[in-house]
Formats: sequence, structure tokens, C-alpha cells
Amino acid sequence: MKINVSEIFGSNVFNDSVMKARLPKAVYKDLKKTIESGTELNPEIADVVANEMKEWAIEKGATHFTHWFQPMTGITAEKHDAFISPTGDGKVLLEFSGKELVKGEPDASSFPSGGLRATFEARGYTAWDCTSPAFIKESPNATILCIPTAFCSYTGEALDKKTPLLRSMQALDVQAMRILKLFGNTTAKKVTTSVGPEQEYFLVDKEKYLKRKDLIFTGRTLFGAMPPKGQELEDHYFGTIKERIAGFMEELNVELWKLGITAKTQHNEVAPAQHELAPIYDQNNIATDHNQLVMETMKKVADRQGLVCLLHEKPFAGINGSGKHNNWSMVTDDGQNLLDPGKTPHQNIQFLLILTSIIKAVDLHAGLLRMSASTPGNDHRLGANEAPPAIISIFLGEQLEDVLNQLDTTGEATRSLKGAPLVSGVHTLPAFQKDATDRNRTSPFAFTGNKFEFRMVGSTQSISDPNVILNTIVADVLADAADELEKAENFDLAVHDLIKKNIAEHKKVVFNGNGYSDEWVAEAERRGLPNLKSMVDAIPELATDEAIEMFEKHGVYTKAELCSRVEVLFEQYSKVINIEALSMIDMAKKQIVPAVIKYQTSLAESINGIKAACPGTDTSVQEKLMADIAANLAPLYEATAKLEKVEAEANSMEDVEAQARYYHDVVFAAMDEVRTPADALEMLVAKEAWPFPSYGDLLFEV
Ligand code: ADP
Ligand code: MG
Repeated sequence: MKINVSEIFGSNVFNDSVMKARLPKAVYKDLKKTIESGTELNPEIADVVANEMKEWAIEKGATHFTHWFQPMTGITAEKHDAFISPTGDGKVLLEFSGKELVKGEPDASSFPSGGLRATFEARGYTAWDCTSPAFIKESPNATILCIPTAFCSYTGEALDKKTPLLRSMQALDVQAMRILKLFGNTTAKKVTTSVGPEQEYFLVDKEKYLKRKDLIFTGRTLFGAMPPKGQELEDHYFGTIKERIAGFMEELNVELWKLGITAKTQHNEVAPAQHELAPIYDQNNIATDHNQLVMETMKKVADRQGLVCLLHEKPFAGINGSGKHNNWSMVTDDGQNLLDPGKTPHQNIQFLLILTSIIKAVDLHAGLLRMSASTPGNDHRLGANEAPPAIISIFLGEQLEDVLNQLDTTGEATRSLKGAPLVSGVHTLPAFQKDATDRNRTSPFAFTGNKFEFRMVGSTQSISDPNVILNTIVADVLADAADELEKAENFDLAVHDLIKKNIAEHKKVVFNGNGYSDEWVAEAERRGLPNLKSMVDAIPELATDEAIEMFEKHGVYTKAELCSRVEVLFEQYSKVINIEALSMIDMAKKQIVPAVIKYQTSLAESINGIKAACPGTDTSVQEKLMADIAANLAPLYEATAKLEKVEAEANSMEDVEAQARYYHDVVFAAMDEVRTPADALEMLVAKEAWPFPSYGDLLFEV
């Protein structure tokens, strides 16, 4: 297929160039001011914008519009309305008013709200987020104009993942601008955060997928013996992309480019059947919307091609899971990246203040960051030997670590390490300077040149959560810095002292070594760094007194909003483990046990048959196999009964936190006991007799 990338890119987006071409000049200018400078939206322009949006959408074949929003489920929601409006003579006009563009009122009662709204008070509103462009979702059976919106309750509380994100961006803007002013910057008007999320995913064959109830109901395999080959040869990472997968990637890219999503990098990942897509970074809220669309489009395109895209953090035990590296930086509206150290970072005082403020923020609020990467699925990754540990630490690299060390020990930084030439030993290879710093793949929070890469985030997650936390904790530390520096008599001296203080008090969170090693776990404990091992341990971090105070101070979350999120998260955890437990019981009782008994019967018949036909023939193999199977079948049956019992117990609990803890400590542990004998049985029973595809089938036959 020949693809004209520049022609299709953004063709389904009501973007700046479309608005410029179609809107009256004054309206365009008004809207642009709101988008770029964050001024209030002029309500009078809404009708004009709506009408042009509708005309444009109809030209593209749209019949409906929807307010597209991001409830606390972490996925997106949409309710379609046709543009039709009856004319009284049995015909219709196609209309879309400013009111419909700006405000929507979905019934909010069936979305998680964590007690923010009783079910009888169902009113919720969606409000147009004009900072993220409207777009058209096109599929063979529907063409829908999607308007990105924020979702709030009748009383203004955020019921979604977008409102807090926009608030946190605003908070960081305010505080970062105070710092820039102190450094004499008179040109920048706004600071935003840029985010580039790298999305990992698995692709499996749809026919095989449909034979696995665990994948269908939970997104991950609950059973499965290890295949003879896993990822140990390291032959999949960056390997040649199979044609079938390349076909998927091509169609995916086209779909994403049409939506104005800058899908840039694609490669095979570490695990067999695992891949990655990275877009070019964008403004935080747009990157968040786009990542939701990336995940949704991956699933859609896979389905069209007889594949299934698994976004779960750990679809297969024993091989690598999927994460979402959240690359984050702060930029001014005039294009300056505040995390760019320049060639001589030791002389870049503004950078050093911002860098050490981020270090302080991460150290002070490590628990919150850890919480922001918590999903039931991510519990399988964090702390296992493939993903960063559950301990938050920062990797700075040699160059910056050296500058901070100089400041810490002598009070002055007088030099910056430089990248040496790369010595390959081959004359014909180009000579170039290396970066001043190597990379570290084991750090959860790594400085990578001019951005931080938060690597804990799970592959299923909305990136809103981690970015709300990042933006707010950095805003909070910058606020304190600005308070102190604004009243300083000697700014240069004060800023120098503040940088030194930040280093001295928070260097304990900096760690450049191997984050996967056991020594680090012990060392981190000595340093007093928190190690929150599971989602249920991390959730309460969101509503500690300090967290509430900070979020309220910056207008990001109210106490009620935080408490509701805590409740929603505990509930989500419990529900996910409950579904997993029930799926496991279902598969064990209805599929595995019957299949094993059938196989046992065939063995018994074989023994009897052989003995009858040729008395004295050695049937010891069949008998030994019978014994081994029996030795695992009984424990499987018992463990399943126990799982049923604890699942029922968990299900009957009232207190959300106690219930989530019980699911984690008891139900989750009981699931392991079911899996072990079942996986052993898979290795004893003939392949044709096993009731669903194996790991080998799923991972290597795509
Ligand atoms: P890696 O080598 O870390 O896997 P990738 O190219 O896969 O790198 O992804 C890096 C991501 O970081 C991309 O999405 C890229 O656009 C993004 N990125 C680059 N610079 C910045 C920046 N200044 N701020 C935020 N994100 C950035
Ligand atoms: Mg990458």
C-alpha cells in the first residue's frame, strides 16, 4: 500500500489550520487566545465554532457527535447524538449548536464516583476542552465527531481524569512562571508540560485468544506452563518485524496519523509477541487524549486483522510485562525546555534550581508517585525482575551527578563532564561525540538528556494519573522556592543556598546503580526510602493529610475528590481480583478438571486394553503417569474449593479498604495455589487433551 503520509496526517482533526481556514478571523483569534494563553472562553463564539465543526464533520461523513470524556474507569466514554433536528414537515435539518458543543449532560450515575455523588443525584456535566482539538472517529460502520471534554458533577467535583490534569497543568504554570520571572525572563507567558508516552503491548492470534476465558475476562493468562523457549535468547527485542505484525503496524499508523497522532517509533519488545509504539511528545493533556486513542485504535485495528491486542501489564507469567514510559518535561510557550541542561549545566543556575526542585519533589512525594503507577496488573511488574522496583529513586547520570556532588561537597560547581569521542576501532565508521551520560534502564525515574522518564507507569493506565501527581508535586516545591526567593535580598546567594539545601536534604533519592538488584532494596531501606509493594499499600498515599493539604493548596483536588478516588481505587482492585478468581474457578472446574479426568480415563482404558490384548506387557509408564496426574489433580481440586471459599468471604465484606486488603493477602495468594498444580498437569497431559492454547501457541504462533 502506498501511503501519502503528509496528506493523511491530521485529516480527521479540527486542528489549527482547519480552524484558521474555516472560522471568521475574529472568532479564530478569540478561540486561539483561550487555547494558547488559557484565558476564559468567550461564550459568544461557541455557536459559530459549533456550526463550522459540524459542516466540516459532515463533509467527512459524520452523522453524530459525542462529548468524549475520561471517567475514573481509566478508559474513555462516549454517547452519540445525531445532528438531526426536525423541521415540522417530516424532514430534518442537520444542526449543532454552541450549547451542545460547550456543555453535555450524560447521566453520571453508572460511572465510578467513590461516593462523590449518590445514585439518585445522577447529574453530571461534560464541558468542552478546547485546548485539545475535536476529531473524527471513523470506522467502517460509523463516523462520529468527537469533542474532548472534562466531566464534573453537579457540584463541580471532578468525576474524571481530565479535569485534575488540566488543573495540575495550570498549577505548574503559575509556579514555574514565578521562578522564570525571578530569573529575569520577560518573554515567556506560559509554562506547560510535554509528555511522550511509550506504549508497550502484546499481539496474539484472535482464534487462540477466543479459546482462553482468562484472556477474555481478565486480559491476562491465569494458567499456563512455561514454553520451552521464552525470551532468554534476547532475539525478539528490536528483531525483524514479522509481516503480519508489520501489516498491523501499518494500518495502525495510518489510523493514528489521520487523528493527528504523531506515531513515530515502532519495534519489537523484549518478550515474544511484545511490541512498542512511541509518538512524538506533545502538550500533556493532548498527549493524554492521544494515548487513550492509541490504546483504543490498537485494539480496533488488531481485531480487524484477526489479532487481539493485550494491553495488560502482565499477560503472561514468567516473561516480561508491559509498561508505559512517561517522558516528561517543562517547556515555555516560546519554546525553551526548562529541563535542558545546556552544554555546561554547572553554569545553568535556573536549570539546577528546577532540577533540584524536582529531586526534592520526588523524594518528598515518592509514595504519591508510586501510587500513581498502581494498577492490579502493575503489581505483577513492579518489584519483579523486569520493571523498576516499587521503590522510587532518581537516575541523573554521571554528568549531573558530578555537578551536584561538587555543589554538595565544596559548595561550588566549577566544571561539567563532557562526552568523549566514541572509539569503535573502525576507521570507516563516522566519528562522533558520545553523550555526556550513559543510560540506566533500571531506574524508575531517569533523567534522559532533557526530560525525565517515569518508567513505573503500567501499560493499561491513563497517563493522566502520573502526570497529575508529577505536575502538582513539582508545582508545590517550586511554590516554596518562589516564596523564599521572592523575598530574598540577594537573589544569587539565596538561589545558590537553596540549590545546595535541596541537594543536601534530598540526595538520598538519587541512585545511579542497578535498580533491579537485591542490594538496592536493602540500601533503599537504609536510606529510609518507602517501598510500597502493592497497589493496596499505595492507595492510602493519595489522601494523607499532607497530600490533601498540597492538592487543595494548588486547586488540583479537594479532600472529597481525593477520598472518592481512594474509594474508587480500592473498589477497582477488589473487582479485578474478584473477576480473576471467578475466571480461575470457572476454568479449573469446567475445563481443566474435566479434561484431566477424560485423559485419565483414556489412560485407564489403554492400560486395560493393553493388558487384555497382550497380558504381561509393561504398562508401568501409563501407571506412573496416572499416579503423577492424580497427585496434582487432588491438590488442584482442593485449592479450587479453597479459592471459592475465600472469594465468597471477600465478596461479602463491606469496608472497601479491608476488602481490598483481603483480596490481596488471601484471595490473590489462593489463586497461586490453584495455578501451580494446574500448570503441572498441563505438562503431564497430552497436548490435544488440554482444553486451551498453551503459552507456546499464544506467544510464538502469531
Ligand atoms: P527510548 O530510547 O527512551 O525508548 P523512545 O524514542 O522510544 O526513546 O521514546 C522517547 C519518548 O520521549 C518519545 O515519545 C519522545 O517524543 C519523548 N520525548 C523526547 N523529548 C521529550 C521532551 N523534551 N519532553 C517529553 N518527551 C520527550
Ligand atoms: Mg522506547
